[in-house]
Amino acid sequence: MSESNRKVILTGDRPTGRLHVGHYVGSLRRRVELQDSGGYDEIFIMIADAQALTDNAEHPEKVRQNILEVALDYLSVGLDPAKCHILVQSQVPALFELTCYYMNLVKVSRLKRNPTVKSEMQMRNFEESIPVGFFTYPVSQAADITAFDATTVPVGEDQIPMLEQTREIVESFNKTYGETLVMPDILLPSTAACLRLPGIDGKAKMSKSLGNCIYLSEEPEEIAKKVKMMFTDPGHLKVSDPGKLEGNTVFTYLDAFCTDEHFSLFCPDYHNLDEMKEHYQRGGLGDVKVKNLLRDVLLYTLEPIRNKRQELQKDIPAIYEILKEGTRRANEVANATLGRVKDSMRINYFTDEAFLKDQSARYS
Ligand code: ATP
Ligand code: MG
Repeated sequence: MSESNRKVILTGDRPTGRLHVGHYVGSLRRRVELQDSGGYDEIFIMIADAQALTDNAEHPEKVRQNILEVALDYLSVGLDPAKCHILVQSQVPALFELTCYYMNLVKVSRLKRNPTVKSEMQMRNFEESIPVGFFTYPVSQAADITAFDATTVPVGEDQIPMLEQTREIVESFNKTYGETLVMPDILLPSTAACLRLPGIDGKAKMSKSLGNCIYLSEEPEEIAKKVKMMFTDPGHLKVSDPGKLEGNTVFTYLDAFCTDEHFSLFCPDYHNLDEMKEHYQRGGLGDVKVKNLLRDVLLYTLEPIRNKRQELQKDIPAIYEILKEGTRRANEVANATLGRVKDSMRINYFTDEAFLKDQSARYS
């Protein structure tokens, strides 16, 4: 068993595009809080480029460009390289060795049951032509999590099946080869709206691959335009009509972003969101007023992030240095885990003195 009682975070994102406000409420905001809480011994934030290649094999250039975009987004929201390691997955070879050994502990039928992979396959029209790498990415995610002895994985709701798969692999590995891997726990957002923020189309989850996003680095005019386009309650035609909150994307976003302070700043007619919701349901509150509040809240929240990004963009080599240093530390830790794994599996033929003696004895 590894050193116990350490509290370690591992989480990450695929570099398939700039990060969006779904990432912010689903994971990024929480990461910064956890980082600043001082309650963790080590924090690893992974840019999962190898995972991004599993459904972008023809577009390595896209992945390559977006590594920098994601790193800039991380630093813009307040992730601090003095407090966490930001690493690039493909540059940590131990992760792929671990994946290879874990694959033997997982059945194809089990992977086929993963609901997130199922819906992602549908979204990409993969059917039978699914790349093997994509199909098995939950196993590679188990390698990412266990390589760093992560105890805590702060992610959005779509990651629940990945954490379940990882926990099964840890259990199976430890049972088969002896206590070696640390059992991780998922840490989900506490607000329902943040578990899976819908896209601006109001349908599926906001996702880089679906183009239904408001990006963290979005220009103010674009944010205003996108909020205007958002769905509310289709039955709420006149201001005096009672409005519905269910399926009303604008209110879902307000649930995710709005604080009482925002009301005193931008909409002093109400003290808080509950009062506004109540008025909307009663009738007499128009969609434009609600949308204007959301626009103001988003502009207010995203402005400092956008400004910080502009500063950071002035020194790109410094960003790559941060990634290099984070990746260096990641290799140290992942190699140590891989060493433990190989010892437990007894595939340490060249370093196990007792084994060598035994082998010699067989022929003497
Ligand atoms: P892709 O379309 O390439 O899969 P994505 O937008 O789904 O991109 P990921 O990199 O797969 O983003 O996810 C990174 C993290 O952000 C995960 O923890 C995931 O749960 C969280 N996340 C992504 N989208 C949302 C969302 N709409 N609401 C809440 N959390 C989200
Ligand atoms: Mg995703």
